Amino acid sequence: MEKGNLSINSENILPIIKKWLYSDSDIFIRELVSNATDAITKLQKLISMGEASMPEGTTYRITVSIDKENKQIKVTDNGIGMTADEIKQYINQIAFSGASDFLETYKEKLGEGSDIIGHFGLGFYSSFMVADKVQIDSLSHKEGAVPARWICEGGIEFEMGESDKASTGTTVTLYVNDESLDFLEEYKIKEILKKYCNYMPVEIYFDVIKPEEEPKDDDIIDAEADADEIINADADEDDATDKKDAPKPINNTSPLWLKQPKDCTDEEYKAFYHEVFTDFNEPLFWIHLNMDYPFRLKGILYFPKLKHELDSIEGQVKLYNNQVFIADNIKEVIPEFLLLLKGTMDCPDLPLNVSRSFLQNDGYVTKMSNYITKKVSDKLNSLFKKDRENYEQFWDDISQFIKYGCIKETSFYDKIKDAILFKTTNNIYTTLPEYLERNKEKHENKVFYVTNENQQAQYVKLFKDYEMEAVLLTTKLDVPFIQYIEMHNHGTTFARIDSNVADILNTDTPDDNKDSKESLEALFRLALDNEKLKVDVQGLKSDSISGMIILDEQSRRMQEMGSMFGGINMMGFDMFGNEETLILNKNNNVVKLLLQLKDDESRKEDVHLICKQVHDLAMMSHKPLAVEAMSDFIGRSNRILEMIASHNHTV
Ligand code: ADP
Repeated sequence: MEKGNLSINSENILPIIKKWLYSDSDIFIRELVSNATDAITKLQKLISMGEASMPEGTTYRITVSIDKENKQIKVTDNGIGMTADEIKQYINQIAFSGASDFLETYKEKLGEGSDIIGHFGLGFYSSFMVADKVQIDSLSHKEGAVPARWICEGGIEFEMGESDKASTGTTVTLYVNDESLDFLEEYKIKEILKKYCNYMPVEIYFDVIKPEEEPKDDDIIDAEADADEIINADADEDDATDKKDAPKPINNTSPLWLKQPKDCTDEEYKAFYHEVFTDFNEPLFWIHLNMDYPFRLKGILYFPKLKHELDSIEGQVKLYNNQVFIADNIKEVIPEFLLLLKGTMDCPDLPLNVSRSFLQNDGYVTKMSNYITKKVSDKLNSLFKKDRENYEQFWDDISQFIKYGCIKETSFYDKIKDAILFKTTNNIYTTLPEYLERNKEKHENKVFYVTNENQQAQYVKLFKDYEMEAVLLTTKLDVPFIQYIEMHNHGTTFARIDSNVADILNTDTPDDNKDSKESLEALFRLALDNEKLKVDVQGLKSDSISGMIILDEQSRRMQEMGSMFGGINMMGFDMFGNEETLILNKNNNVVKLLLQLKDDESRKEDVHLICKQVHDLAMMSHKPLAVEAMSDFIGRSNRILEMIASHNHTV
C-alpha cells in the first residue's frame, strides 16, 4: 500500500476559513494581538530557561497602529520573531501551530498548564477577512538571524525575501480591503481592542499614523525609550513630566481576578466592578473564584442589585481565556441562572473550538459549571450563617436571583435551601422552618402569603388582629417558586391570604350561625340576582369589616392558570366560576342591620343596594373589579352619597 499525507489546496480552503470559521471579522485584531502576546511570552520563557537573551531592561510591548492614508493596520511586537524558515513552517503551512510546536518542544521545562494562547494554527489567516494583502516583517531573536519579509496577496500566493527590520520581533501589516475601511477608524479599533484585549498580559499601545508623519518604525520607538532612560538616570525630577506625556498602554495587564483574594481590598473589588461594567451602583457582594486544580479558573462574580422584576434583569459574565476575551454569557460554562450576575472569569484550560466563542462538548465544562454553582451557594450560606442581619438586608436584592436559581437548578436549591428567606407582614425575615414552627398551633404546615399588599390590605389587617402572619410573595416569579417549594417540601402548602382562612379566624361552630346564614344567603342571592352565590356568616374580631371573599387556593390557582391560557370562556363553559364564598361578619353593624331589615318590604330597594355594595367592597380586596362591575360600583356609591346629602334637603 502506498502511504502519504493529504494535501490541502489553499485556494479552496481559504474562502472557507474566511467565511465560516470566524463569524465576526472583528476578531482578526484579537488573533494578531494574541500571536504578538504569544511571541513575547515565548521569548520571556526562553530567557527564563536560559535559551535566549535580550538586553537588560527591555520592555515588552505590542503596538497597534492605523494609517488611514495608506489603508494599513500594523501590529508590532518585540517578541521571539521568526526566521524565513520559521515563516515557511508556521505561516505557509496552514493549520500548523507554532504555539503547539513550542509547547511540545519545551514540554518538560514548561510543566503543566500553559499561558500560551494559540493552538489551532489558523488565527493568523483571519487577517484575510479584512485585508487583500498581508505582509510580515520579522527578525528572530536568534543570534545572527537575518530579517525576513513575507508578502501574500489574497491568502494564496506568497513572496519571500529579506526585510529591513532592525529590531527583534515581528510587524504584521494589513493592507485593508475596500469593504473593511471602517477598521481604519480610531474609535472602531479602540473599541475592538477594549473588548478583546483589555486585560491581555502584555502592554498594548495604540498609535495613529498621521499623513504628514513618516510611519513610526518600532525601532524608533525603542530608540526613544532608550534615550528616555538615559535622561531619567541623570535627572529624576524630569521623570514626572516625561511620564505625563508618555503614551499609556490601552490595557490593564494585571486584572484584579489574577491577584490573590487575600490581597484584594473591598475598594479594589468595587473599583474593578465599576470599570468593567460601567455600573455606578455598588455591587452587594462578590465571590473571588481562584482555583488551580483539577482545572484552572480565576474570576470575580458580583451580585448586583436585582430589585426589579426578573424580566428587566440582565447580567453579564465575561469569559476570558488566558486574559483574552472570548465572549459574554456562554451558557455552557456558566449555569443559566448565574447569568443574572456580573463578573469576569478566566479559564485557561477551556476546551475552545477553533472559532473560540464555541466550546467543545466536554466533561470539563460541566465540572466547571458545578464548581461555580457550589462556590456561589457556599458564599450565600456563609453570609446567612455568619451575618444573618446583613444577609437580610441583601435579601430583597438577591431573592429574585436565588428563586430563579432554585427553579432552574435543583442542585442549587439543595445547597441553598436553608438560606431562603421570606419577608413577613410583620416586617421580619424568616425561613420556612421558622415560620412553620411559630405558626404550627394556628395552622400546621401551612404558609399564608400576600401577593399584593395594597389590594389585600384588609386581609392583612385582619391577620394582624388575630396575631397571625403571612409572607410576602409579590413577584411573577413567586408563582412557580411557591409550587417548587411545595413540591420539594412534602406536606407544606401555600395559601393566599384570601383563601380558606375562615375556619382559622372563626371560633363559632357552623351551627351557631345556621339561621342567619340561610336568610342572608337568600337575601344576597336575590339582591345580586345570582342563584349560585355562596354566603357564610362568621364573627370576626374586627367589626369594621362587613364582608370578605374567600376562594379556595387550588381553585384560584386553576382560575389563574385558565386565564393565562386565553381565558376560561374559551373552553365554552365556566369551569371554575362560582367558587368564591362571601363571608359576612355578624359583628359588623351593616350586617346586623341587614338581618333586621331583610323582610321589610318598604326598604327592599335600600336593602338590595346595601347587599350589592357589601359584595363589591368584599370583592375589591380579592381582585380588581371588572369594568362593568366597577362602573356599577361607582354609580351606586354616588347614589349612596346623594341619599346621605339629601337628608332633610332637596336640590
Ligand atoms: P496559532 O497562534 O493558533 O498557533 P496562527 O495561525 O495564528 O496559529 O499562527 C501560526 C504560527 O505562526 C504561530 O503559532 C507562531 O508560531 C507563528 N506566529 C504568528 N504570529 C507571530 C508573531 N507575531 N511572532 C512570532 N511568531 C508568530
